[in-house]
Amino acid sequence: MEKLIIFSPLIVFIIGYNAGINFSRIFAALFSVCAVIFYTSHLVVIVTILTLCLAEFFLEKFHRNMKSLRRLFNDKLRDLVDELSEIKKDSDTTKLALTTNEKVIKNILHIYELSKDIATYIDLEKMFLLIVQSLDQQFTIKDVVMKIFDGNKIFKKGATFDIDETAKIPKISKNIIHLPMNIGDNYFGVLSAKIPPLFEKDAEFVNEISAFVEELNPAVQRAILYLKVEEMSRTDGLTGLYRRGYFNERLKEEELRAKRSNGRFSILMMDIDHFKKVNDTYGHQAGDTVLKTVAEILKNSIYETDFAARYGGEEFVVIFPKTDPDGLKIKAEKIRQKIQDSEITVGLEKIKVTASFGIAHYPKDSQVAEEVLRCADMSLYKSKQTGRNKVTEFEKTS
Ligand code: GH3
Ligand code: MG
Ligand code: MG
Repeated sequence: MEKLIIFSPLIVFIIGYNAGINFSRIFAALFSVCAVIFYTSHLVVIVTILTLCLAEFFLEKFHRNMKSLRRLFNDKLRDLVDELSEIKKDSDTTKLALTTNEKVIKNILHIYELSKDIATYIDLEKMFLLIVQSLDQQFTIKDVVMKIFDGNKIFKKGATFDIDETAKIPKISKNIIHLPMNIGDNYFGVLSAKIPPLFEKDAEFVNEISAFVEELNPAVQRAILYLKVEEMSRTDGLTGLYRRGYFNERLKEEELRAKRSNGRFSILMMDIDHFKKVNDTYGHQAGDTVLKTVAEILKNSIYETDFAARYGGEEFVVIFPKTDPDGLKIKAEKIRQKIQDSEITVGLEKIKVTASFGIAHYPKDSQVAEEVLRCADMSLYKSKQTGRNKVTEFEKTS
């Protein structure tokens, strides 16, 4: 018991220290004082001094450990804070990417909706107007040109720039974007648009507008096909000129336009002279070649705004909008001369033909389009009667 009391400060300190109790030195000191009080001996003093020395030594070590632990803890904490800020940065970037993606998806969905609406149209002209409207709405693009290679059709809205027909991928040059219109390797057109300054260097914009055109391609191609079928039903297979039925429609339209704008138009009728003889002499096929050649001469002699049709077998008719009557007489003379001068080669034969012409004018000769047509026919008849191969202008007294 005596020994237990004597060594109690040492035991208390060891137990306290191992248990991590910071006050073990104080407890040990208290026990030492008690031991000295109860047993005044050299041994107690030695044990007490030893205990206190040990306590000092271990506590010093304990503090040093604590210090390095604290440093370690601080380092770890700093690392953790750094890591946390990295994670936060990453999450911000992800959040930004997500919002951008959301915007892109929204835009693409909108583009898809727009193109779906446009695809419900079959008329190329209307379709183009809707394309322009959508481009304005989506990208604030105002100047657009669409060229369809087949038939060289050009649709324009406010644009004055040239189209890059060679574009096989979206191409930007001098603020103009050229977007090829294709399905696979079939490049059937180009859509060119002036880019607003805001989008000049925006890759996202190029992606979106390309997606828009890509979405439209099948619909545009369908409309081209429809137009072709419609044109085919309107045009004569042999000469490529419009048929009589479509001519009659156009004549009515021209009459309405002239009435509305107080304008004028002229009608030219032309009939190949003694054509029956051509057929009889050289055969029907040779006759067909002659018809084709004469139609070609006629087509090449008029403006795109004029409208030529095959009215009957070897009879042709042209509407000349807003034409000066005197100028038309000269033009008809030139066409007559060209036909007379041309040598049509069929096999080994060289065929020469002439044609007779009749001209009448709206509203000079009549204010009814059909009547003007009749006047032109009457003038043609007069040409035939007075020797053929000539141009006759309608005269009221005739
Ligand atoms: P005219 O100078 O009075 O006009 O005499 P013409 O022989 O030209 O007139 P006519 O009306 O007597 O004959 C027209 C001929 O045109 C009769 C027809 O066989 C021929 N014809 C009509 N359509 C075609 C066609 O598509 N191909 C060919 N080869 N001949 C045609
Ligand atoms: Mg004839
Ligand atoms: Mg005839």
